[in-house]
Amino acid sequence: MIGGVEFRKVTVIGAGTMGAGIAQVCAQVGSQVSLCDVSPAMLERGMATIARFLNRAVEKGKFTREVGKAMQEQIQLGTDRQAAVREANLIIEAIPEKLALKQELFQEIAAACPADAVLASNTSSLALAKIFAGVPQPERCMGTHFFNPVPVMALLELVRTEATSQQVIDRVLAYAKQLGKEPILVKDSPGFATSRLGVCLGLEAIRMVEAGVASPEDIDKAMELGYRHPMGPLKLTDLVGLDVRMAVGDYLRQELNSPAFEVPELMRSMVKAGKLGKKAGQGFYAW
Ligand code: NAD
Repeated sequence: MIGGVEFRKVTVIGAGTMGAGIAQVCAQVGSQVSLCDVSPAMLERGMATIARFLNRAVEKGKFTREVGKAMQEQIQLGTDRQAAVREANLIIEAIPEKLALKQELFQEIAAACPADAVLASNTSSLALAKIFAGVPQPERCMGTHFFNPVPVMALLELVRTEATSQQVIDRVLAYAKQLGKEPILVKDSPGFATSRLGVCLGLEAIRMVEAGVASPEDIDKAMELGYRHPMGPLKLTDLVGLDVRMAVGDYLRQELNSPAFEVPELMRSMVKAGKLGKKAGQGFYAW
């Protein structure tokens, strides 16, 4: 990369759906990546996913086989979190969406990493101020909300807390651009920009199905053709999972105290019946 990459050593913690993708895009721009997970099986699976993505890119002629191989070699795997963060310039956490788990992790790694390492969480909804509560030097902490699949999706939602320094924001913004992402900057607030607006639209679409306004297919078509959304709100709810979106709806209803996030009865009954969307084979659509 011309002029050098903003963060030379990046540690990604959690090698699941998101962590593997984040590790890949960081390695692609020349960062040395340490990918860390509690589970060796997940590390292996994550690396296999990365290899598959890179091989496909080689087949499409995006870079040579040698370059693809060199990118993979930029990624080191490990289960020892403290060793993985010891020399890191940037640490991105992508472990499950559980507040206590993330809090515990940041307490542990903040004590083991360099004092000037930037600490970032990939949370899609939790309050960053809570995740980083008690972490020394909170000015180096922020949110980096990537989208799935990470190598494909252009958006990177950056979230600043009251404490995040401008210098850290500027560095992460610069790195986001090096990664080929389109960053947006959002204040630490419930649902940030993406989940708040996306879930609101999805819940209203379900209320419209409930009221018999139109069929799920026609409601989706209305947004796809009338508003140029690449995917209608009900299909998207099926893809994300009704249970996942219901949990976010309940959380936002409570945090924002707005009836716009009231979870419709239809959604609760579908979740109860196991109609969770694509992963269950049935949601608003049969998959
Ligand atoms: P995932 O369940 O696929 O992966 C989580 C990984 O973390 C697992 O491999 C697990 O073994 C590992 N892990 C758990 N505890 C750990 C610890 N203490 N140390 C190291 N590794 C640990 O989860 P995911 O879908 O990749 O989501 C990760 C985060 O990204 C969550 O906060 C989620 O809300 C957010 N997110 C997910 C998506 C999505 O579409 N999946 C999109 C945007 C943001």
